[in-house]
Amino acid sequence: MADKFAQRMGTVHRSFIREILKVTADSEIISFAGGLPNPELFPVPAMGQAASEVFADIGASALQYSTTEGDAGLRRIIADRYRTVRGLEVDPDSILVTTGSQQILDIFAKVFLDKGDKVVIESPGYLGAIQAFSLFEPEFVTVSLENDGPNLEELEAAFKDGAKCFYAVPNFQNPSGVSYSLEKRKAVAALLDKYDVLFVEDDPYGELRFMGEDLPTVYSFCKKPGVLCGSFSKIAAPGFRIGWVVTEKEIYDKLVIAKQASDLHTSTVAQAIMRRYLESNDIESHVDLIRDRYGRQREVMVEMIRKYFPSEVVITEPEGGMFLWVTMPEGVSSMDLFDVAIKQKVAFVPGRPFYVDGSGENTLRLNFSNSDESRIEEGIKRLGKAIESFLD
Ligand code: PMP
Repeated sequence: MADKFAQRMGTVHRSFIREILKVTADSEIISFAGGLPNPELFPVPAMGQAASEVFADIGASALQYSTTEGDAGLRRIIADRYRTVRGLEVDPDSILVTTGSQQILDIFAKVFLDKGDKVVIESPGYLGAIQAFSLFEPEFVTVSLENDGPNLEELEAAFKDGAKCFYAVPNFQNPSGVSYSLEKRKAVAALLDKYDVLFVEDDPYGELRFMGEDLPTVYSFCKKPGVLCGSFSKIAAPGFRIGWVVTEKEIYDKLVIAKQASDLHTSTVAQAIMRRYLESNDIESHVDLIRDRYGRQREVMVEMIRKYFPSEVVITEPEGGMFLWVTMPEGVSSMDLFDVAIKQKVAFVPGRPFYVDGSGENTLRLNFSNSDESRIEEGIKRLGKAIESFLD
């Protein structure tokens, strides 16, 4: 059988995180591993109400095939929210609804990547993008992520060397929690324009800021075409699998073709329920609720890390999103730590899979959105002890 698989499958593996999630299914394990939103905040009754209304009012059409571009009313709401919440003018016709924002990475790669093309990514980078792009056999070029964004010298060197595109998560990045400063946003946009590199801005966490000032997207500073990806997964619920991409016409038309080949269109019924939910509820106060809860969970995690982790351990202190990043002293392996931590019934994601060059051995990712404050305190205490045992 092995000789029958396409060659490209040889370089791509099952998501390491999805594998870890299996180990952490045991309810006694306090898991900071998954990237899951807090399910207590899913708007279950309101979604139930929206679903009943959709079935009562437009049942048959909600169950029919629909256009690849997506529900027109939903696209108008997305455009309105860009204007009111983010201060960005977006034409609803430039929005393509997708099956999660993850699908954009796949269709973008189908449209733009030939084998060996240079794709610049942040290091550490989003695992789902590495996986989606890898199937098209590009050459990854990594750029170090600093506390305020990418290292600009490395970025310019990568662009000069003939990069085709740059994939980035400038707000509360997965996995590091890092956000780009305003200066770096402008500098990155200037470099993209100067070297004519296609930009993929992935922004599923942009609205989840719980401290500091909202900053414009990098996309809004770019003069050359690019794509801006968004999602309802983190502000409503991921189970709907509804995301979207904003782009200009030439790219849009090609993405539509790739999406048609992949799934014809995003679920009609899911879009209809999401639209009804957004029309009948105050999503902005719902997002405030999420921000407030995650902000407190992040606060407790940082506080507990200060209390229970050895002082040599360095962390990012994210101003939003769902993750923070831990760097342990050189020589401590987070893979080895994982085995010890699981025995103490606490889990995290080791950092190495987020680096395509195999570095990052002493790093790890912690999720703070999916555990309540008492579990965060207990889990960090256990993890602190486990790290301690590696430093003796
Ligand atoms: N991009 C990033 C950076 C993410 O963290 C995620 C979710 N883990 C996605 C895209 C995919 O999100 P979805 O498909 O649910 O919109």
